[in-house]
This record gives sequence, structure tokens and C-alpha cells, in this order.
Amino acid sequence: MRKLMVAGNWKMHGDRALAGELAAASRDAATARVDVELVLAPPFTLLATLAQALAGSPVALAGQDVSGHAQGAYTGEVSAAMLAEAGCSHVLVGHSERRQYHGETDEQVAAKFIAAQKAGLVPILCLGESRQEHESGQTEAVVGRQLATVIEAAGAAAMEHSVLAYEPVWAIGTGLTASPEQAQAVHAFLRSQIAGRDVRIAGLIRILYGGSVKPDNAAGLFAQADIDGALVGGASLVAADFAAIAAAAPN
Ligand code: PEP
Repeated sequence: MRKLMVAGNWKMHGDRALAGELAAASRDAATARVDVELVLAPPFTLLATLAQALAGSPVALAGQDVSGHAQGAYTGEVSAAMLAEAGCSHVLVGHSERRQYHGETDEQVAAKFIAAQKAGLVPILCLGESRQEHESGQTEAVVGRQLATVIEAAGAAAMEHSVLAYEPVWAIGTGLTASPEQAQAVHAFLRSQIAGRDVRIAGLIRILYGGSVKPDNAAGLFAQADIDGALVGGASLVAADFAAIAAAAPN
């Protein structure tokens, strides 16, 4: 049985006051649902505040991005070891906003995935197709390629210590959500791609859905066999909504 994960990606939002509020709500949500793993991915500058506010709770912290390099002259970047020292156990890699606005390639995402694992972090590998790719029937080709590049670079065994997040780009922040059936079909495809390399890991790996997940659509998504939780953007900034999404997990 895979433990459900609900992760909040705050993107470039939040300040210390909001961090305190969301940390308190997440602590309560984690107490109410010990069977759901909660992860918060705030901006880098709030990691220290949250590490303190979440101390002693099971709520985990994630970076929103990580450098593919261990250290060096890479102004503006943050290494995986730095994230680990700041209290992170997880990190998002390959979020579509990084791929889209910062030109991150599949190969760079793979380097970040490997760097994260080297420092003991669990990468949450984001995969997803654009609206145009979706409409032209290329969804499986795109997410299959994004996943295969990481597996080829990191090795199939590395997938055991990772989480996948299927995030159709056309559904992120748009209010459009893939239907539970649409998302399930892509999740099943991704799991089959892992199974082609390692059946045991395919059974263990969690595949989150992301793209306008809200309290009113979460239960339908979580009811699908291959949807093991959610990566939540906008709704993770509203304490009651994030808690309601965690509470929507089947128990
Ligand atoms: C995201 O940023 O990963 C995301 C899924 O955003 P939203 O929930 O706002 O669509």
C-alpha cells in the first residue's frame, strides 16, 4: 500500500507571517491524517522559518529547485547539500515553470535529480505536456521521454527513492484539471514505463497529480488506482484548502 503524499508548491509567494500560519495548519492536518505524508515547498528564503515552525512534526520540507552542481561558481543557485542543511528532505525537480521559463532541458533535470539523491534528498520529478502537445496527442511521448532521460542518467534503481508528479502544463494555475480518468491513464502509463525496468519499484513509487487540485476535485483524483497524492500550487497557499485536500484522501 502506497502512502498518499500531498505536497504544496508555494511558488514565489509567501512571507514569514503566511509561513507561520501554513505551518500551524499543516501540523494540525498531519495530526488529523497520520496516514498522509505532507510536504511543503516554500521559497528558499522561508525554509529556515519553516524548519523551525515544523520541528518535531512529520510535515516535510522541500526545495522548489536545486542546482545540478555540487558547489562552485554558480551564482544564484542552491545546492542539494545546502537544502539538506536547511532542513529539506525533498526537492522538486523539473517543474514545468522551470522547464518553460528557464529553459531546463530533460538532461539538466536528470542532473538535478542525481544531485538531489547524492545529498540524501528525495526528488519529486515533475513531468507534463503542454497544451499543444496534449491537443496533438503527444502526451505519452512527452512524459515518456522526460522520464526515460532521468532513468537513463540515474539508473532504474534510483527511482525507488523518488516521487513522480504528473502535471499537465495546461492544467497548472489555469483552473482546468485533467479529469480523474485522464490523469489515471497517464499515471498508469508512467507506472508501466517503470515496470518495464523494475516491476517491484513500479509497485512502490508514488505518482502525484498536479494541476489545479482543489478541495472539491481532490477526492475524485485520489480514488484512482495510480494516483498517489497531489502536488498542489495555488490551493496550498490557503491553509483551509490545503488541509481539506489532505482530508480528502481515502482512509
Ligand atoms: C504547481 O504549481 O505545481 C501546480 C500544480 O499549481 P496549481 O495547483 O495552482 O495548478
